[in-house]
Amino acid sequence: MVRLWSLALLVAGIWLLSAYGQSRPEVLGPDAPAAQFSAGRTRAVLARVLGPQLPHPAGSEEGQRVRARILKELAAMDVPARTQTGMSCYSAPRWHFLPCGTVTNIIAEVSPGSGKTILLMAHADSVAAGPGAADDGSGVAILLETIRALKARGGGTHPVIALFTDGEEADLLGAAFYLRDPVAKAGIGAVINVEARGNEGPSYLFQTSGGNARLIDLYAAGVPHYATSSLYQEIYKRLPNDTDLTPMLGLGVPAYNFAFIGNSAHYHTPLDRQENIDPRSLQQQGEAALAVADRLRTADLTQLKSGDAVYLDVLGRWLPRLPMAFALPLSVVAFVLIALAGWRERRGWKRAVMAAAMPPLLIAACVGMGFLLHGLAVWISGQADPSFAHPLWLRLSLAFAAFSAALLTARCSGAIACWLWFAGLAIVCSLLAPGLAPYFLFPSLVAAPLLLVTMRGARKAALFVSALVALVIWIGLNQGGEPIMGLKLHPLFTVSAGFGLLSLLPLMAKASGWKPTLIVSLVLSVTFAVAAGLQPAYSERAPQRLNLRYAERDGKAFWLVDAGSRLPDRLREAANFPALPQEVKDMGRFYVAPAGRAHLDAPHIAVHRGDNQVSLEMDTTADGFVLLMPARARLQSVDINGVQTAASDGATAIGCATPDCAHAHVTLRFASGTLAPLLLETYAQGLPPEGARLLAARPRDAVPSQSGDRTISVTKIEIPAP
Ligand SMILES: [Zn+2]
Repeated sequence: MVRLWSLALLVAGIWLLSAYGQSRPEVLGPDAPAAQFSAGRTRAVLARVLGPQLPHPAGSEEGQRVRARILKELAAMDVPARTQTGMSCYSAPRWHFLPCGTVTNIIAEVSPGSGKTILLMAHADSVAAGPGAADDGSGVAILLETIRALKARGGGTHPVIALFTDGEEADLLGAAFYLRDPVAKAGIGAVINVEARGNEGPSYLFQTSGGNARLIDLYAAGVPHYATSSLYQEIYKRLPNDTDLTPMLGLGVPAYNFAFIGNSAHYHTPLDRQENIDPRSLQQQGEAALAVADRLRTADLTQLKSGDAVYLDVLGRWLPRLPMAFALPLSVVAFVLIALAGWRERRGWKRAVMAAAMPPLLIAACVGMGFLLHGLAVWISGQADPSFAHPLWLRLSLAFAAFSAALLTARCSGAIACWLWFAGLAIVCSLLAPGLAPYFLFPSLVAAPLLLVTMRGARKAALFVSALVALVIWIGLNQGGEPIMGLKLHPLFTVSAGFGLLSLLPLMAKASGWKPTLIVSLVLSVTFAVAAGLQPAYSERAPQRLNLRYAERDGKAFWLVDAGSRLPDRLREAANFPALPQEVKDMGRFYVAPAGRAHLDAPHIAVHRGDNQVSLEMDTTADGFVLLMPARARLQSVDINGVQTAASDGATAIGCATPDCAHAHVTLRFASGTLAPLLLETYAQGLPPEGARLLAARPRDAVPSQSGDRTISVTKIEIPAP
């Protein structure tokens, strides 16, 4: 019993070490040496750039004021800067949406030089729902402090340009606009982008350009505190998320994407304010950006081309890494060595089969209990994400669930079987998702030789050392993964805990007192799940995301509220919302309540038809619009105010996201001559005056997010015969 609880305490200790013992930098104050990056100075810059901390999306007046303040900061450092303005459209091949808008970038010539340019990027715009102090005001301020430090250090061969993009939140329009200039595009030699998701946590190097082994070496040599893994690269390329780096990756030049990730409850909400930013995140992100920029500007960029690496940081202190091409052969070697160790001590096939079944059973039990316990908390709380504001209780519940699963499977487990699974999964990952391979491979590489050379007494020590390596890696992932989506994504928690505990099974197998320990652990896991369900799901610090929309269509008006979570009672009563959300054609899922007769001025749209071509002259009062068209019309290209952009295959919508779009000239070219009516959604920020009562009914623990509250008008545009 003592051994079982000691091992549980060890795991808890490693979790706490990952959370609080990570190697993070000391925050430097305003009087730090000039060549150093200082979060203290960055905070002062950020305060000046943000001014009154208002939302400043692309095309807004506040956006213009933010740019003026950035230009003033650059002028104070004697950095020549200019702006570039124009209509930009950008579509990644996998999007069915072609967004456009008028953007203004700031291009600052930090230092001259020869050869290709090192491009530093951050976006100056914010979402409409919040002031964007972290996302990406912090990036802007970090770039300004980095520029100052680079100038103070002097030297460098490559020219350095800082690009403060506009319209990143409107789908990367500013970064794409910069690339429309063929000379600027051809001059780019390497890119560093600086971002934030939430307002605390380590600064992760979460994405690089392809062929990154040398880039990771450069990061490892220059950056004092690591937070990176080839797994992030693997995950990010499978997600629909993008940053300004996406359009740049097509250039095939070395590229680094940094973001601090933590407390994402504040991300893209009014709470993304300067006072909520952890200065340690600024310091770590700035140190990383400065170190990489400084090394890149003296590097032979052609020497940075290489194959990919597999890597992960350990507690922010170490960064073990291997060429990706080595992952498969090394995994096979580890597997063979562990199999050899097992062959020497074979003890009957029946036990071997049982032992081989335990690891997958452990993971399945972890995942299954995760669904049950999260489901229990959901049922009690009545909220889809019950642990959003108070995650501790569900975290404890899931932790005891994983411990229970380990207790259940430990007695029939075997050391060789467990480690064969580890090495076997390293082989599978090397083939299918190499970025994940080091999580299995690195512990296997420690375990394989130790298992081979030990028997009996020394075997226990070998298993303990191997388990420590696996636990530090997997419990670190368990702790670091939670800020991404919270415990709503509980399989990330239970699976990573399960793989960590897998390495402990052989040490738990013969421990005494497993039955009472299992009972206590199960009771605790259920008790904590109940406690999680009894907590309020939201708080003022971690509010519910709840946009309110007023929409008019076919002469009728509606209130729409996001369907992602339960509608608060006060809001339900304020406009007679029904109990359940419903699907609104072409718009998505919402709680819908009637709002009387339509009264907004209908947009004036003059329509001209060529053969396979439709021209629209917009005359509206909107802040932007989205135009929906049927897929069978097969959109080929869009021309907005004279700027032509090819549509990607299967594009069914175009957007124009800045207020000048209200009077845009739009020409759509289709592959098909049979044109169905188009659907035009024009929108303006905020609600009409009668929305005041809904705004007042939105609880204090709910906030607008992303594009925020909007007034929408939907108009059908008939296409005349050619
Ligand atoms: Zn951002």
